[in-house]
Amino acid sequence: MEMELLVATHNEHKKEEIQQILGHDCRVKSLTDYNIHEEIVEDGDSFHANALIKAKHCFEKTGIPSLGDDSGLVVEALDGRPGIFSARYAGDHDFARNIEKVLEEMQGIENRKAYFITVLCYYDENGPQYFEGRVYGNLLTENKGLKGFGYDPIFVPEGYEKTFAEMNPEDKNKISHRKQALDLLMDFLKVTD
Ligand code: IMP
Repeated sequence: MEMELLVATHNEHKKEEIQQILGHDCRVKSLTDYNIHEEIVEDGDSFHANALIKAKHCFEKTGIPSLGDDSGLVVEALDGRPGIFSARYAGDHDFARNIEKVLEEMQGIENRKAYFITVLCYYDENGPQYFEGRVYGNLLTENKGLKGFGYDPIFVPEGYEKTFAEMNPEDKNKISHRKQALDLLMDFLKVTD
């Protein structure tokens, strides 16, 4: 059965990525499609809390099944930082400065273990359902590669020798945290069809 899903984003790229993964059973809409322009304040203290804030806000405004997401980089030796502050660790969406700050804090630290995480919150009349994806890896001491975004140039996924920023987007998207979480959501939506 075809359903509509409102994704709590203005980012058309994110909307398209989700549409492609979920396929034709689902018509993916963005905040822009629903003329929702007010800022949704993401002041939760966890990935789950932030994903919930976004999804719940959209469902309560529209009554349409809604999806909120929150992602970030979790570094073991930094007690989980940058974590929920990943997008604005040193400067808001300033990827170069954010990487610089992480590398500075990691200077001289041997444990380079980190993971990317995505938490999705699907919200409908039954309340919230969460889906989580993680990709584990290690951080380099300097940038490598020009593709991707965010912390991609310093992150080498386990089992690979290239950073996410050296991989083709198709290869990254096969193993990414986002893809894993979306696969779980897709299974759930199929089952509840
Ligand atoms: P968002 O919740 O998807 O907006 O992600 C928040 C922040 O986490 C981004 O601004 C990036 O800094 C970081 N991040 C999330 N996913 C990735 C990724 O796949 N590669 C690199 N950085 C990421």
